[in-house]
This record gives sequence, C-alpha cells and structure tokens, in this order.
Amino acid sequence: MAEAGELPSRLAILPFRNRVLLPGAIVRIQCTSPASVKLVEQELWQKEDKGVIGVLPVKDAAAAAAASMLSPDAGTDAEDPILRGADDASDSQEKDGQSKPEPVSWHSRGVAARALHLSRGLEKPSGRVTYVVVLEGLCRFGVQELNARGMYYSARVSHLDMTKAEVEQAEQDPDIILLSRQFKATAMQLITVLEQKHKAIGRAKALLETVPVHRLVDIFVASFEISYEEQLSMLDCIDLKVRLLKATELVDRHLQSIRVAEKITQRVEGQLSKSQKEFLLRQQMRAIREELGDNDDDEDDVVGLERKMQSAGMPPNVWKHAQRELRRLRKMQPLQPGYGSSRGYLELLADLPWQKASEECELDLRATKERLDREHYGLAKVKQRIIEYLAVRKLKPDARGPVLCFVGPPGVGKTSLASSIAAALNRKFVRISLGGVKDEADIRGHRRTYIGSMPGRLIEGLKKVGVCNPVMLLDEIDKTGSDARGDPASALLEVLDPEQNKTFNDHYLNVAFDLSKVIFIATANRAQPIPPPLLDRMEVIELPGYTPEEKLNIAIQHLIPRVLEQHGLDSDFLQIPEAMVKLITSRYTREAGVRNLERHLAALARSAAVRVAEKEFAVPLSKDVQSVSSSLLHTQFVGSAEGEMEVIPMGDSRVISNALKIASTMVIDEAMVEKVLGPPRYDDREAAEHVASPGVSMGLVWTTFGGEVQFIEATTMAGKGDLHLTGQLGDVIKESAQIALTW
Ligand code: ADP
Repeated sequence: MAEAGELPSRLAILPFRNRVLLPGAIVRIQCTSPASVKLVEQELWQKEDKGVIGVLPVKDAAAAAAASMLSPDAGTDAEDPILRGADDASDSQEKDGQSKPEPVSWHSRGVAARALHLSRGLEKPSGRVTYVVVLEGLCRFGVQELNARGMYYSARVSHLDMTKAEVEQAEQDPDIILLSRQFKATAMQLITVLEQKHKAIGRAKALLETVPVHRLVDIFVASFEISYEEQLSMLDCIDLKVRLLKATELVDRHLQSIRVAEKITQRVEGQLSKSQKEFLLRQQMRAIREELGDNDDDEDDVVGLERKMQSAGMPPNVWKHAQRELRRLRKMQPLQPGYGSSRGYLELLADLPWQKASEECELDLRATKERLDREHYGLAKVKQRIIEYLAVRKLKPDARGPVLCFVGPPGVGKTSLASSIAAALNRKFVRISLGGVKDEADIRGHRRTYIGSMPGRLIEGLKKVGVCNPVMLLDEIDKTGSDARGDPASALLEVLDPEQNKTFNDHYLNVAFDLSKVIFIATANRAQPIPPPLLDRMEVIELPGYTPEEKLNIAIQHLIPRVLEQHGLDSDFLQIPEAMVKLITSRYTREAGVRNLERHLAALARSAAVRVAEKEFAVPLSKDVQSVSSSLLHTQFVGSAEGEMEVIPMGDSRVISNALKIASTMVIDEAMVEKVLGPPRYDDREAAEHVASPGVSMGLVWTTFGGEVQFIEATTMAGKGDLHLTGQLGDVIKESAQIALTW
C-alpha cells in the first residue's frame, strides 16, 4: 500500500457518484461517460505503471448545486464538458457530451486509488469505447484546488492519512490500544455471526490478525452496506481515535441488525411452518375423507359439541380436563378406534347437570301433608315421619340427616311416597333400580380403558334427569349382592355419605361429581339383607302391608278413581261396588300391597270400555273414533286379564267416555268379574274343606311378599321307614318334615 508521502500532489479526479471509496477497499467501476473514458485513456491506459488517480465522492442532486462544498472552477466555461458519475452503469444518460454540465456536489475529501486492472469494451448500439477499471483505495486526501484538464478534472491534493512514523507512534497510545482491542472484539463477533451463514468468512479472521488497525477499520466498514452519509463520515474521520470509535459503532450496529433480523426470520419461519403444516395436513385429511365418501361434516359436529360443553357449566378443573380430551378428539379421525369412545365421553360431560338445578320453592308443610293424604290412604306414622324429615330440611336445607329407607313388601306405596316427596319439594324424580346389581361397576361405572365401558347407574340417572338436585330413589337396595366383581354396597356407602358424596368418583367419568345436592331415598323389601354399614346411614321406615279393610279403602278412594281416569271413564259410566272390591281382594289377590288389586281393577275398566264400544247402539261414534273389530278386542282383553298386566292408559279415550255419557251406568257384578278375571284363584271355602279331610293340616309361611297359608297333607304307606325329601327345600322345612315323621 502506498504511503501518503509517495503520492503525487496533483491527481486526476474520477467522480464517484453517491458512493465512497474507502482506503483498503477494492471496487470495480464501469466508465462510460466521455469524461471518465477520457480520464482512463489519458491517465491510466497505456501507462507502464497503471498510475494513481483521485476518487472523489459526489452527491448526485440538482438542488445540491448551491450547497456544493466545492464547486468546479468558476472560470470553467459553459462549453466545458460535464463530469458525469463514472460509476457502475448508472451514468447512462449522457451520450454526446454536448449538453450543459449538470450541477453536482463535490466532496472536499476523497481517496487516492491505484488501478489494479483495466479492460476495454464497446458499447453496443453506439459503438463507443468503454472501460472497466478495478481500483484499490490507498489513502485519504483533501482537495486544495479543482481544475479542468480537458474533459475531466484534476485536483491539487493534500494527504490526510498518517505517515508510517505517525502510525507507529499512535500504536503506542494506550487509548488507541484499548479502542482497537474493542474494535477487534466487535469485529470478531460479527465474523462469528456471519460464519454461521457463510462458511467462507475465514479470510476475514486472518485480516483481523495481520492488517494494521488504521487500515483494518476502513476495510471492515467498506465490506458491508451502510448509508452514503455514514460512508462520508467514515471518510471524514481523519483522526485515528475518532475513526476507531466510528468504525466500532458501525460494526456493532451492523451486528445488532443482523441479530434482530435473524430473530425475526426465525420467528416468522417458525409460525409459518407450523400453520402451513397444519393447513397442509388438514387439506390432505379433507381430501382423504372425500375420497372415502366420509364427508359428513364432522368438524361442525365437534364445534357443536364444544359449544354444548361451554354451556354445561363445568367446574374449572373438569373444564380443563374436557378441553384436553377435546383437543385429542380433534386430532383423531372419525374412523379411528377410540374416536367414538372419546366422543361419547365428551357428550356425557356436556350432558351432565353440573350446575343446572330445579328451583326449590318455599316448602309448605301443610300443603305437603294434604298432598300426602290426598295421594295415600292411611300410613299415618309414615306420613308423620316424612313431614318431620321435610320440616328439618326446611329449617336447615343442608342438614345431613339420615337417608330415608322405606321397607315393605311390593305394592305398599314406597315408590309413590318417594315421588310425592319429590313433588312436595318441587324437585325432579329419578328412580334407579338396584335389584340384582352385583357388580360395583354398575354403581361406579367402568374405567374408560375397557371396551364398551359405561358410566354407573347414578351418573346415568343424573344425565337422564338433567338436574343436579333431584330426588333419587335407590330402589330395592336390599337386592344388591357382592361377589368377586366387587361390593356395590361399599360404593353406595360413598354415595350416601354426605362427607364423601361431594366428590363422588365415577370410574368412567374420572372426575369428581358433586352428589351432595341430591336427596336420596331408598326402598327395600326387607331390612335384614342390607349390609349393616349401609343400614347405619339410613333411617328405616316400615310399611308392613295393608289389611283387607285398608285395601278396600285404598281401592275406593284412590285406585278406582285413578283407574277410571286412566281409561277415560268416570263413575257415571262404570261403578265398581265395594262388595266387588272385597271379592277381588279376597279371591283374586293374596298380597301385602295393592299392586295386583290395581291391575285387576284396570282389567275391569278396559273390559267395560270394550263392552260399550261393542254395543255401539245408542252412541253414534264421533268421526274421530274408528270403529273397532270389537269381538276380537273383547276376547283379547278377557284372555289377557288372567295373565300379568300393565296399567296402560288408552290414549285419549275421553272421546269415547263423552260419547257414552248418555248410555246407562254400568255396574260391575260377580258374573262380570268372573268373566273378566277368570275363576277365583283363592277360595276360603276350599281351605275349610281341605282341613276337614283327615291327614291335612295347615301351615303358615312367611315371605317378603307377605304371609301364605299352606296345606300339609300326610298319607301312610308301606315302606322301611325312610324319608326322602325332594325339591329345593330350606333347612326349616326339612326339619319340620323330620319332626312331622316322628309323630
Ligand atoms: P312399591 O314401590 O312399594 O312396590 P308402589 O309405590 O309402586 O309400590 O305402589 C303400587 C301402587 O299402589 C301405586 O299405584 C300406589 O299409588 C298404590 N298405593 C300403594 N299404597 C297406597 C296407599 N296407601 N294409598 C293409595 N295408593 C296406594
């Protein structure tokens, strides 16, 4: 590199438009304007030593003319050829060199440059000669005086860079040492960052170690893009300290901008690739579904499910859990195994009444008592206990009183009492049958890992009833048994324990459900089989069964009106006299409750309705009522009256009853009873006759369904005196047989 002293004091000037050549930098310039071509031809071409020229930055702006820091000589006349920027191809406007000089703003400092390489070419359309020059910046100079030299300018210059001795001296300056160390560190960082992108940056590292720092800074700054103004200010940094500071600042700024840009790119790339990937996969999924003909809009379905879940009012922890499951569902294909189960599970979560409750109105005890009396005959003690129970609830709604358990034979009104309680409390009623439940999973549900797993009956019941505070009847709680599959009673214990049922854990549901708002009522035929811990939680209320008189009253006051109403009849049309009720209770039923009695009464009512329809005589049927093939109906009803029958309301049969009002009242008599219900099943006279014959005696048998009279018949026969008992007899009967034999 040239030292300042070796440079000539007058330099031909090549204007360098909007750019700055810094010492140490190498540029390739295409010279096309006549002025610059002339300059190259006269100053560089054909010369042994390629020579040194001055490269001066110029600002290319018309407005800058006035503010030019250094104007071309005032004496330069108008014919003077203009000086156009000679830099890379940007100077194409000028063609003939005859136009007026364009004002340019010269900078007062430039860089002396040595031509490293020259090549000559032709501009195609005009055939004019052009040159490509490769220049290396050597050192800074200041312009003393600018003069036209033919077509181009030359300037008298003063050298601004330090001499060798000055450099050596400066290198001893502690400030400079510190600053250069700082600069090198920053430059090193920049190199490291760039190295990750461009592997071929290794040469820069070598530069850092070999080139003296006063040159190094220029080379470094020239190597990356900075604004023209900054290039100029770098050129103006004559003092080494200032130059070092400026270069460190520029390198550091460049480093930071690379880092920020990198960060942004990374983030954008990350986001893009994730969403693009998702989009692509969804498109593929859709295409596959369409291909499979499986285009029921499942996505909409899932959206609907989510909406349902949102309105279910789940507690926060359950909501989180449900969200997780929903996300899993979203990733699944509808045909994928597990999709159905996952969906069913979420449907259940959405359907369960987490918050929904029926509004409890102010409890009116007197009205409740009246209601109980209206709906049930007798049972004074039971009703009293129910009223007490409700009174406590009224005073202390969250009282942890024991669970009521109605114990008695079938048909004594256990279920209907429970539903009356629900009605009195203005709550919904749900009955859960526990008869024959041996598996704990029936109460608690199966874990979802099992195929075909389901929630337990309690959760199922709550889903059905749709409120979280119903009256729940645990029917036949004595009929649960325990075996290898677990103990349903222990699960029930948790259900009935107010301490534990706040967080009832159904295995299927897998999240806690609050059962504390549910009012539980249990029923049982016998208290004895109920496991003691469970019985301990309940208050047993016995309903022992009815006497014939009670049955008669129940029939007259409750059953007959209800049966008539259910069949669209009324007492104007059909009357069942007391005597007939007595007959049915004694000859056709033998039960503690009144269920069969009610069935038989219903059979009579149906038959009566058919009778009238059959006659059709006085009654013109309204045109809505279809005439029925009555004889067929008649035989059907009469035939089925013998068997087990359900009380089925016959639709809107009021039409018939209204039409029949004018017909005479029908009174049930013995013949009618016998025709409809068949011959009597039980006959008291028969019993008397039985006992009258020798060898027959009577025994009393007790079952949960009430008492039974049984006849024991003995005969003598020849034999060895052995006794053989056949059939499934209990120990007591076997013993009785042995005792009887000893007689
Ligand atoms: P359980 O649940 O004890 O087996 P239900 O409650 O189902 O019996 O009663 C059977 C039928 O008998 C119901 O229609 C009920 O109304 C009626 N019933 C039972 N006891 C009475 C009563 N004391 N007063 C009026 N109806 C009664």
